[in-house]
Amino acid sequence: MTNNTWHSTGLDEILLSLNSKQEEGLSLTEVRKRQSIYSNSLEDDKRLSPLIIFINQFTDTMVLVLLGATVISGLIGAMADAITIMAIVVINATLGFIQEYRAERSLEEIKKLASPHAIVLREGRRVKLPASELVPGDIVFLETGDKVPADLRLLESFSLEIDEAILTGESFPVKKNALITIPDRTPLAERINMAFMGTVITRGRARAVIVTTGMNTEVGQIAKMMKETERPLTPLQVRLDQLGKILIVICLVVCTLVSLLGIYRGENIMVMLMAGISLAVAAIPEGLPAIVTVVLALGVQKMARRNAIIRKLPAVETLGCTTVICSDKTGTLTQNQMTVGRLATIDTTMGITGNGYEPRGSFQQEANEINPLSAINIRLIMEVALNCNNAILEKRKDSYQIQGDPTEASLLVMAQKAGMTRLYKRQREIPFDSARKKMSIVVEADGEYLVFCKGALEVLIPSCKQIIKQDQTQPLREEHKEYFYFLQEQWAGEALRILGFAAKKIKPADINLPDDALESGLTLLGICGMSDPPRRGVEKSVAACLNAGITPIMITGDHPVTALAIAKKIGISEGNEVLTGSDLEQLTDQDLYRKSLTTRVFARVAPEHKNRIVEVLKKNKEVVAMTGDGVNDAPALKSADIGIAMGMSGTEVSREASSMTLADDDFSTIVAAIYEGRAIYDNIRKFIRYLLGCNIGEVLVMFLASLLGMPLPLIPIQILWVNLVTDGLPAMALGLEPPEPGIMNRKPRPSSEGIFARRLGWMVLSRGFYISMVTLLVFIIAILYARLNGIDPLPLSRSMAFTTLVAAQLFYVFECRSEKYTAFELGFFRNKFLLIAVFCSICMHLMVLYLPCMQGIFYSVGLNYWQWALILILTGWKFISKLILYLWKRVFAFKWDYAKIKA
Ligand code: ATP
Repeated sequence: MTNNTWHSTGLDEILLSLNSKQEEGLSLTEVRKRQSIYSNSLEDDKRLSPLIIFINQFTDTMVLVLLGATVISGLIGAMADAITIMAIVVINATLGFIQEYRAERSLEEIKKLASPHAIVLREGRRVKLPASELVPGDIVFLETGDKVPADLRLLESFSLEIDEAILTGESFPVKKNALITIPDRTPLAERINMAFMGTVITRGRARAVIVTTGMNTEVGQIAKMMKETERPLTPLQVRLDQLGKILIVICLVVCTLVSLLGIYRGENIMVMLMAGISLAVAAIPEGLPAIVTVVLALGVQKMARRNAIIRKLPAVETLGCTTVICSDKTGTLTQNQMTVGRLATIDTTMGITGNGYEPRGSFQQEANEINPLSAINIRLIMEVALNCNNAILEKRKDSYQIQGDPTEASLLVMAQKAGMTRLYKRQREIPFDSARKKMSIVVEADGEYLVFCKGALEVLIPSCKQIIKQDQTQPLREEHKEYFYFLQEQWAGEALRILGFAAKKIKPADINLPDDALESGLTLLGICGMSDPPRRGVEKSVAACLNAGITPIMITGDHPVTALAIAKKIGISEGNEVLTGSDLEQLTDQDLYRKSLTTRVFARVAPEHKNRIVEVLKKNKEVVAMTGDGVNDAPALKSADIGIAMGMSGTEVSREASSMTLADDDFSTIVAAIYEGRAIYDNIRKFIRYLLGCNIGEVLVMFLASLLGMPLPLIPIQILWVNLVTDGLPAMALGLEPPEPGIMNRKPRPSSEGIFARRLGWMVLSRGFYISMVTLLVFIIAILYARLNGIDPLPLSRSMAFTTLVAAQLFYVFECRSEKYTAFELGFFRNKFLLIAVFCSICMHLMVLYLPCMQGIFYSVGLNYWQWALILILTGWKFISKLILYLWKRVFAFKWDYAKIKA
């Protein structure tokens, strides 16, 4: 069978040809066999091979120039120099390679985490699997908000509508029908019994069989779809990129000046050329973008371990700027563990006992167990609860698991507790969505056609004309409505979620009436109240948000009183202010913003209201994180600064529109992600502070020495060595610094803040200047000392300047660990990577100073005690004084910050 005949072939024949069964799906052995033949992936494997990444390290222009110059100097005769320079360049490239390779792999892992999933039938069981594992013949279940995972032939469909714009360009969703077989030559846009990969279910649900996968699908054949989009840079990466370009120009100008001044003074041309180039290689912070990527990528992996899956890298930065979190209630702030605990009809109210989803419990009135099914209206409620329902309750080992909507699962449990198990044949379904807030089905029961409807009470009551009271149908009067509304307010005040039930009989000919007509003239049966306790730890997370200057706002489709009761329980709201969707419609944007400054609860809102709230908050300079799960939430998720989708209960469409997914749907995970986001940004600032401070120091030493007409304080090979020893590992290790205390005690970072804000620019410049000054000072002192003692001045003074530069940078790296605390207050041994990096750097430098073979290459000499003392005092006085102060405070432990930090 070809791609062009699936729609024109009968269902039985298709299932036969694919060797699959509608109720069973494929066997696991069959799946394995097919997976070795078929792939369901659209993307080319564009992974950069490790070799290419390594070779790319040598394509940097400055490195190429350096290598060229090295070869020339090697040819001229300085062979040992040439080999050492080559070795340093290779070690540097290896470090660069490790960083980039890790970044690549981490980004790939992130991509995998965010890949789409689908619900499939395998050996008779529904399982959720990555879409990439599907094969032809798999039976899949589709729901509103799903992305179609392959090309499918529909087996059954209920009110199914699919947005096929990506294939056909048609902006209106197409109504689908599984039961039709259509002619061979029907164009793609009219194949209404098919669903195509990448299209989106906007309404309804279906069961379907996969007919083609991966590149063989319709979308796979459109070549342009397969072009992988460029990996976007984060705003910080873009800014750093621009900064990098400016720094390159400055470095090149200064390095050229250094070379020219040296040549003008009569120094060896080749040496000056090499010095200029080496300085440029050392000073240009070429490692910056790679370290930023690694730090971002590692941070993203850490977030994933805490259940926050980043889909778009820029979100990591934006997280630190978030000022408002707009969160759904059900499932995010609450557990989404629904249990129906109350039931009421116009005649009676009762309690329902039992725990969780186990269908064991009783119906009680004034502590007496009763048989609920003796009244007609309650029997009908149970039939609606059981049939107007798409959830599945399964017993696995000793516990009950659910699939589908927890609200509906709790209704199944209630019906089963009442002993109701009879399922009718479903003829039609008008699905639930959070804008309609109700769901209806038509069933055939013993030759009669019945409409069953359940939904929010305010939505249901206007569609009802009758009520069943004492087993008699009578007109629905105001007093009946008021009674139910009164009960709703009362139950909602106890944080219960309320759902109403209604039904009516129709003629067979009315099955296909328009939705509105089918859902009118109903008979009201009663209401139930279900509990959904707040998530564990959410109260703490709300408090953490408030402490961090972030306003949590609850936006829910639920009843205002229920929403407010939960909001108060978890500390989101202290007052009684609630805005409903209909209130919102009356307000201008300005009034809405004013209200949003004090309102913490928005209830009975539809998805489009969410979008409006985001827009208004954003217009007023708030940085908004917004959660959402439904297909209609996609616009709000897209327009929020950070759209947050639900990994467990959310739709595929909402996940795609978002920049972050919560694997556990938990509000606390958002707060954890903000914490990590702030820490990552801090770390990026830390190594920028370090790298730039060091590089400015190196350039200034050489530049000032040239201006003052002094000999070169460092020869090319030493410059490259300093760069290797100080820039590589220690800078990287700074990026891995654990979050410092008090991260969530400060206000969000303004989103417009530049990299050098909060005195970072000053810190970098002043430290660069200081490093250069002490290096020059030591250089001059060493020359004077050598002259006075009749020693050859250059090897000693250069070794001392060289050591000063290294020592100053290694002390500085500890200072860069925090802008607020000293390294000792933070816990000196807390960043193990940094200690290892510094230890390695020290060993490498000592080798260069003291190993005779290295002395020959680096023109270095060993230093004596006082020379070391001079260097360590000049470069490390700040570090040493802080250590003394720290020890003093520890020993004479009075009140001080340390205790607070540790707490
Ligand atoms: P949140 O936006 O916080 O997740 P929610 O889940 O309460 O809130 P919706 O799912 O939009 O919001 O539900 C709104 C209302 O619709 C509920 O209060 C309930 O009355 C009704 N409702 C919820 N689920 C169903 C359902 N499966 N069938 C019929 N009505 C439902």
